[in-house]
Amino acid sequence: DVSAIPGVPDWLSGHLQDEGIEALYPPQAEAVEAGVTEGANLVASVPTASGKTLVAELAMLSAVAGEESGPGSDASGASSGPLSDGGKALYIVPLRALASEKAEEFEQFERYGVEVGVSTGNYDSDGGWLADKDVIVATSEKVDSLVRNDAAWIEDLSCVVADEVHLVDDGQRGPTLEVTLAKLRQLNAGLQTVALSATIGNADELADWLDAELVDSNWRPIELQKGVHYGQALHLEDGSQQRLEVRNGESETAAIVRDTLADDGSTLVFVNSRRNAEAAARRLASTTREFLDADEREALAEIAAEIRDVSDTETSDDLADAVEGGAAFHHAGLASDHRSLIEDAFRDRLLKVVCATPTLAAGVNTPSRRVVVRDWRRYDGSTGGMAPLSVLEVHQMMGRAGRPGLDPYGEAVLLANSHDELDELFERYVWADPEPVQSKLAAEPALRTHLLATVASGFASSREGLLEFLERTLHATQNADRNELERVTDRMLDYLEVNDFLTRDGDQLQATGLGHTVSRLYLDPMSAAEIIDGLRDWERAGGTSAGRERAETAGDEAEAEEPAGFTRASELAADHGDDDGPREPPSALGLYHLVARTPDMYELYLRSGDEEEFTQLAYERETEFLGPMPSEYEDDRFEDWLSALKTARLLEDWASEIDENEITDRYGVGPGDIRGKVETTQWLLGAAESLAGELGMDCVPAIREARTRVEHGVKSELVDLASVRGVGRKRARRLYEAGIRTRADLREAEKAVVLGALRGREKTAENVLENAGREDPSMAEVEPADIDGIETT
Ligand code: ADP
Repeated sequence: DVSAIPGVPDWLSGHLQDEGIEALYPPQAEAVEAGVTEGANLVASVPTASGKTLVAELAMLSAVAGEESGPGSDASGASSGPLSDGGKALYIVPLRALASEKAEEFEQFERYGVEVGVSTGNYDSDGGWLADKDVIVATSEKVDSLVRNDAAWIEDLSCVVADEVHLVDDGQRGPTLEVTLAKLRQLNAGLQTVALSATIGNADELADWLDAELVDSNWRPIELQKGVHYGQALHLEDGSQQRLEVRNGESETAAIVRDTLADDGSTLVFVNSRRNAEAAARRLASTTREFLDADEREALAEIAAEIRDVSDTETSDDLADAVEGGAAFHHAGLASDHRSLIEDAFRDRLLKVVCATPTLAAGVNTPSRRVVVRDWRRYDGSTGGMAPLSVLEVHQMMGRAGRPGLDPYGEAVLLANSHDELDELFERYVWADPEPVQSKLAAEPALRTHLLATVASGFASSREGLLEFLERTLHATQNADRNELERVTDRMLDYLEVNDFLTRDGDQLQATGLGHTVSRLYLDPMSAAEIIDGLRDWERAGGTSAGRERAETAGDEAEAEEPAGFTRASELAADHGDDDGPREPPSALGLYHLVARTPDMYELYLRSGDEEEFTQLAYERETEFLGPMPSEYEDDRFEDWLSALKTARLLEDWASEIDENEITDRYGVGPGDIRGKVETTQWLLGAAESLAGELGMDCVPAIREARTRVEHGVKSELVDLASVRGVGRKRARRLYEAGIRTRADLREAEKAVVLGALRGREKTAENVLENAGREDPSMAEVEPADIDGIETT
C-alpha cells in the first residue's frame, strides 16, 4: 500500500494514487523493505519496464524531503521554492537524449516544491545555477566534468541514482560512470547510492562494489513470452506454436505486423542501423496503411505535417511519408522534436509500427503488444564484420513487449531463416542468461583520461594515492589481482608526464597548468596532445626562419625512410610557409580537420568511393593541414586521416552555408548527425582556443572564427549577424543581401528593409530587432507597400 512508505513526503501517497498507482510492484516493495527511502544504498536489478523509475523517485524524494517530512510531520506540500531543509539528489542518465525526458518526468513533483534541473550543455562550466535545485538530471560525463570544475553543490548531495548502471560494461563510456560514482562516494561519505540495472547475472558484484542492499528480481508487470518465428509458425518459449503465415512476396516482419494488427496490437521492430530503420518503416507503411480508419488517417496526416514543420530535410520527408501510412522510424539521428512526436503517436496507438535502432530500448518508455528483434547482428567497426548483439541488449529490447493493462501479454520475437538458426536463436537468446557486467576501466584511453582528472581535481597526489583511489572502483571489486591495473596506470602516468600534463617527483604527482586545463576542458589527454602538436607544427612552420629550418630538417630525416616518389605533407607545408613574414593563420578546414582527428570526435565511416574522393581532396588541400599527413602506406592511419577529412569537409560545407539537405545527402548522415558534429566541434575548438591561449600562440583569433562559423553555419561575413538570437544562417544571409551587415546595422536599419529581408514576418522582425538591442522594435508603422518595394529591388 503506497500510504505506508516510510521516509517519503506526506503528499506522495495521494499523488501516486492520482496517477493510478495504488500498490507498489513487488520489486519496489522489496526496495522499500531494504531501506531505499531511509538512506540505504541499493542495487536494483529488475527487468525493463518493471517500475525502476519509481524506485529512484522514492529514494530521491525521501532524500530531498530530509528529516522534516517523515510520517507524522505536517509538511503542507504547498510550499514553493526549493525544499531547502532537505538534501539534493542527482539522477545520472546514460544518454544526453534521455536527460530532458527524465527531467520532464520528475517535473510532476514541482507542484510540491521539488525543483528539477537538467544539466546539459558544455563540459567546461561548474553549473552554479544548479545549486538551487533539489533534483538534478545529468549524464555521467556531465557529472564528471562538474566534479572536475569544483561544482560546490556536489558536496551537498545526499542521494545519487545511476540509471542503467549495467552500462559500466561499455568500453567507451562505462569507465566514466564507474569513476564518477567512486569520486562522488569519496567526496561524501554519507551519500546514498542507488543503482538501477537491467536484469544481469552478477548484480551481487555491483552491490558489493557499492556497499548496497540488493533487489534482484525477474518479476514483470505483464507476462512476456519470448520466441522465434520460422517458416509459417511462431515458436514460443513455453513450447507452444502459433501459426503465423507469411504471404508470397511479404517479409516475415510484415507478416508479424499484419498478424498483430489483426488483433488490434502494435509492433516495435528493432533493426541494426539507421538506414535499415528508415527502409523498414517505408516498406512496412504499405502493410499498416490498409488497417487505418478515416480518423486515424486524418490524425496521422496532422502529425506528418508537424514533422515536416520541424525541419525541411529528406529524413523529415521520409519520416512524414511513413507516418501517413501508420509506420515510423526512430533513431539517434532524428531531431529530438521528431523523436517525441513519434513516441507520443506510438503511445497513442496511432502509429502501428515503429522501426528503431536499439537506443530506444534503453530509456524510452514505449511498450507495444509485440516486439520483433529483426537483426541480431550488427556491424562492428573494430572487426569490420557483423557481430551478434549481447543477450542483455536483446532482452532489453524484448522487455518492451506488452502494455500493462492494455494487452493480455507481450510477445517478443526473433526471426530465423533456417531450422538451424531457429535452434541457435533459442540457445543464444531465448533461453540464455545475460552476460555478467565487467569493468572496462583498465583500458588505456579510460585510464589516461581519468588518472589525469583524478590528480588534477585533488583526489590523489601520489602514485600510491591513485592506486588507493582505484580501490574504490568496480574493477577492484572484480579483480583480486591488481597487476594489470598497476601496469596500465604506470604506462599512462609516463604518457601524461611526457606530454607535459603531469610532473612526478618521486612518488608525488602534480598536474601542470596544462594538465589542469585539459582536465577542466574535459578533453581526452590524447586529444589535447594532438591539438597542441598540430598547432605547434603550424607555428613552427610559419614562425621565425630558424623555426622553419628546423621543421624542414626534421622532414628530410624522416623522408629518408619513405618509399621513393612520396612527398611528405610536412615538407610541402614548410615550403608553403617559406615566404616573408609569419605564415597565414590556419584555415577553417585545417582546424576542423585537426579536431576531427582527435579521439573525442566520433568518426564518419568512409563509404565506397569516399576513399578516392577524399584522397584527392587531401592532396588538393594539403597545405592547409596542421601536422604531417600520414603516408598512404600506413593504411589504418591514412584511413583515419581521410575519415577525419570527411568530417572536416562536412563542417566546412556547413560553415559555408551549404543547405542542410545537401549535406545530409552528400555525406550520408542525418540532420541530428550534423548537429552532433557541430556541437562537438564547438567544444573542441573552444578547448583548442584555451590551449593555444595558455601556450601563448597567435592563432587564437583564427580558431575563434572557425568556431563561431561552425556554431552558426555561416561564412565569416555573417558571424556577427548570425549571433543575434533569432536570426540564424538563412535569415542572416537575406539581411546581408539587403545591405544589413552587422548587429549595429540592425539597430539602425530601415524597418521596411528588415521586414522585407525577413519575408514580411512582423513577429520575427520585432524579435530580431529587440535581440539586436533596438529600442523601438515595433513594426506597427511599416506600410505593406514599402515592403513589397524592397522585395522587388
Ligand atoms: P523501467 O524504468 O523499469 O523500465 P518504468 O519505471 O518506466 O520502467 O515503468 C514502466 C511503467 O510502469 C510506467 O508507465 C510506470 O508509470 C508504471 N508503473 C511503475 N510502477 C507502478 C506501480 N506500482 N503500479 C502501476 N504502474 C506502475
